[in-house]
Amino acid sequence: MGRIRILSDTVANQIAAGEVVERPASVVKELLENSLDAGATDVRLDVESGGRRLIRIADNGCGMLRDDALLAFERHATSKLSNVKDLLAIATLGFRGEALPSIASVSRLVLETRAEDETTGTRVEIAGGKLLKVEEMALPRGTTITVRDLFFNVPARKKFLRTEPTELAHIAALVTHYSLAHPDKTFQLRHGANELLSVTPVGEIRERVFQVFGSQVLSELVDLGTHEREFPSDEPGTMHQYRLRGFVSGPQIQKLNRNSIYLFVNGRLIRDRLLLHGLTAGYAQLIPPGTYPFALLFLDCDPGEVDVNVHPSKTEVRFRQGSFVHDFVRDSVRRTLTQARPITAAPAPLPMSPGFGQPGFGQPGFGQQGFGQLGAQLPYSEFSLKMESGPPPPTGELFTNLPEVALPNWQLRPEAGPAPRFDFGEPQLPPPTPPATHPGFVRGPVPDTHGGLPAGSYVEAVNLETLKDLRPLGQLHDSFIIAAGRDGLWIIDQHVAHERILFEQVLRQQAAGQVERQQLLVPLVLELTAGQEIEYERIAAELDRSGFDTAPVGKRAIAVQSAPADIGAAQVERVVLEILETAEREMRRASLEEIRRNVAASIGCRAAIKINMPLDITKMEWLLKKLGECEYPMSCPHGRPIALRYSMREILKSFHRI
Ligand code: ADP
Ligand code: MG
Repeated sequence: MGRIRILSDTVANQIAAGEVVERPASVVKELLENSLDAGATDVRLDVESGGRRLIRIADNGCGMLRDDALLAFERHATSKLSNVKDLLAIATLGFRGEALPSIASVSRLVLETRAEDETTGTRVEIAGGKLLKVEEMALPRGTTITVRDLFFNVPARKKFLRTEPTELAHIAALVTHYSLAHPDKTFQLRHGANELLSVTPVGEIRERVFQVFGSQVLSELVDLGTHEREFPSDEPGTMHQYRLRGFVSGPQIQKLNRNSIYLFVNGRLIRDRLLLHGLTAGYAQLIPPGTYPFALLFLDCDPGEVDVNVHPSKTEVRFRQGSFVHDFVRDSVRRTLTQARPITAAPAPLPMSPGFGQPGFGQPGFGQQGFGQLGAQLPYSEFSLKMESGPPPPTGELFTNLPEVALPNWQLRPEAGPAPRFDFGEPQLPPPTPPATHPGFVRGPVPDTHGGLPAGSYVEAVNLETLKDLRPLGQLHDSFIIAAGRDGLWIIDQHVAHERILFEQVLRQQAAGQVERQQLLVPLVLELTAGQEIEYERIAAELDRSGFDTAPVGKRAIAVQSAPADIGAAQVERVVLEILETAEREMRRASLEEIRRNVAASIGCRAAIKINMPLDITKMEWLLKKLGECEYPMSCPHGRPIALRYSMREILKSFHRI
């Protein structure tokens, strides 16, 4: 007898479950996607014990016919596609017909469903892949699926589950993301008796962002609006439309990981290096390398332009026009940021409300507190976790012989995430105690000299347009310019401000091929390392474009004959070596544009005035005027903020005048 045999359905389903059902959140994802595919407008989820004990999802979608209710648990049973051609343009979230049988094979599952045109509904009970009961039942239209005791029959798998708060955070992040993608639907998530998310239909993503994150976060985000770009299709004369919407943070938000980046393609939450790279390229020279923005991006395109059948958990995609999509995202993000020019607010003084300092308040996480400081955490997402490495594959009876299967990488750093805290309403703070009620404190009448400013005497600027009207008052420590504007008090870092001005100037000159050069009296000969020599050959033309006339001399040496006029002769050697070094270290795979921007950044940095340098008022005025003319005056080419503002509102509030 041969040694090969065909696996039973139960084993096959459990193997599929290895890929599809990684953890409670993956069950939630599959069930949620099914509800959305069924046209539900109202989806309610209940979970217990981080989803390990119970996940129940109830929707008001189309429901299933009695026969379908059973068929749905067969492997590869789907109503969403019928032939291979359909696979080329999938418009639904599901299509593999694997989720229900996989989930049913590793849990105790109950399905209750009724289709519109049937009078009674169907209840199906399955445990560990075995059908226990099918009965007819009076049910409302729609589908409710209850999944209990996940992995009860696969102990090896169970061991890999994380703590209850971690699993719950994954579920909450997931439901939140889907609620953001579908602002026109109701979503509810409860953990035991706690309501974690409850949102009702709204007209715009903006309103949903407000419902989910609160007004503070919303005020720190920039609305991308709608960007559109076309790509010629295979049929002459017709075009494929691409559309990008969403929200991104200003450069003051610098996160240390990608956990706040949510990418949706045609309504599907995905992880994708290409989009991620396009997004971060949009922030090039605006935030420091290695930091990430908050982003909520919705890319919509022809379903035929993106292959979603790349991974069993359907969290990855492949674009037909990868570099087009990449550049579209990069340009849209950059253009939006350039136009919006968000201001970095100086840290607001804490109001003396008793709510502050209470347990829970100000903790990172959801809520009304905004992004807070550098690297503050929003709920993290398994979809934006580090993509490089995954967790070790599970070991145990069932899985030892599997190859290094594609375990979704969403276990990365899960323990590092914040404990979920999803109070979406107004902050539950006790009302501030009016000072008059303090014993022994009597509030006298307020003299009229203590009122606010006359109406119209100050403005609430929303962007950096106001920079050009600033009046410098002087310097702090010979390093920071203090300036008054109609919208408040500004503090400007003179070095990074000048750096930004020069950076943009060099970029413009490079683009026009007119960098101002200075001839060096004596050519500067630089010895190169082997690595630098290779880089030199690659970027020599770029160096020339940026104002450095160079030529190889002898072995491993170059002579620099001219340099950009902005940098002092004494700095030339340092700048050239710095450019070569960066090229060698970071830019090996960089595009010409990236190299060019890096060269411009090096020149800007070296040529800019330093801190600890006294400036007279005319110099300060010049600097502020030039900064105001910059395309992107918010951060220096290395991503540090340039200007902080104390708004008039904050000042008046702090002096109790409003
Ligand atoms: P897929 O979503 O890839 O088709 P699933 O195993 O997730 O595969 O679901 C199998 C089928 O069961 C679906 O194609 C759909 O017809 C039906 N189904 C699943 N969930 C629902 C639901 N909530 N409402 C209506 N039909 C559903
Ligand atoms: Mg499905």
